[in-house]
Amino acid sequence: MVLIYSDDIDITKELIAKGKELADETGGKVISTIIGEVDEEAANELIYHGSDEVIVVDAETGEFKADKYAQVLNQLVEKTDSEIILIGSNKNGKELAPRLAVKLETGCVTDCTDLYFEDDALTAERIAYSGKAIAVQTFTSKPYVATIPPKNFDPLPKDESRQGEITREKVEVTETGLRIIDIQEKEIKGVNVEDAEIIVSCGRGFDNKEDIELAEELAGSLRGATIGCSRPVAADLKWLPEDHWIGLSGHKVKPNLYVAIGISGQIQHIAGMRDSETVVAINENEDAPIFESADYGIVGDLYEVLPKLIDAINEEKG
Ligand SMILES: Cc1cc2nc3c(=O)[nH]c(=O)nc-3n(C[C@H](O)[C@H](O)[C@H](O)COP(=O)(O)OP(=O)(O)OC[C@H]3O[C@@H](n4cnc5c(N)ncnc54)[C@H](O)[C@@H]3O)c2cc1C
Repeated sequence: MVLIYSDDIDITKELIAKGKELADETGGKVISTIIGEVDEEAANELIYHGSDEVIVVDAETGEFKADKYAQVLNQLVEKTDSEIILIGSNKNGKELAPRLAVKLETGCVTDCTDLYFEDDALTAERIAYSGKAIAVQTFTSKPYVATIPPKNFDPLPKDESRQGEITREKVEVTETGLRIIDIQEKEIKGVNVEDAEIIVSCGRGFDNKEDIELAEELAGSLRGATIGCSRPVAADLKWLPEDHWIGLSGHKVKPNLYVAIGISGQIQHIAGMRDSETVVAINENEDAPIFESADYGIVGDLYEVLPKLIDAINEEKG
């Protein structure tokens, strides 16, 4: 059995897609877990996206507490006899997975970019050295606990004719020493690059903050694309808020179209946008590494290229 958990339904769907592949190999089922109150439709949604079973857990967990959620999953692993446990690698999942692994007295591989069986052992791939290398690690203990970052796998297409079992489980949890004193929501300043379908991204090739308007104009022509940027533009120059920052230490994105303007394409930037469907790079240096990650490249001065590109797109749109 493959047991799936994330507190984010979109990540859960992505994990189901990978879980299904692994379950097909082991001959088991994919069981998704929802902790807390949900309506029938939310559970059905997971069935439509490939889950064979959904367990909706009724437990006195209150707000997310990693040690209480680990108790819940520990009991479900035993009850379902699950061999593989996939957990979404967001903030809560990262805290939860290793605690669960300790309870199960097994190992935990975090941030897996791929998982497959090799010589009968589950094998994980992870990005190492900022993406310069792929670490291949084999699990040596069971059950296998792995975390998977968001947007790593595409969810299976929704199929409303799929049938599956939805069960409700009451799980007892005990109080632990962990107390949450205060939760402060991070202020979101208005952009969500992670869900954007088109991103126009600005690098240090821009001479000053005001010139970002050119990128905004291009974004306007491209059906209101979202503005992204490289680290120096947000962190050092402070031309854009950090919500726009893409890369290893920024946001990981997966748009249909990523336009990189005046971005050199250092590995730490590529780590955040490498899964983009189509990449267009504009750079005056024909040897810039960004061209290696681009589907289309324009070698030229962005101050000459952008106005022409905007005109051409607007003309095409009529
Ligand atoms: C631990 C660590 C984490 C990091 N995390 C991130 C991260 O999350 N995201 C990130 O982006 N970086 C990150 N970095 C920084 C990264 O290594 C690079 O320094 C950064 O991505 C460079 O940004 P850039 O491409 O905008 O600038 P530069 O490398 O300076 O490139 C500017 C590019 O613009 C081109 N250019 C200049 N003028 C023009 C013009 N007029 N027209 C067209 N092209 C022009 C140049 O040819 C050049 O290729 C990280 C670094 C470290 C060490």
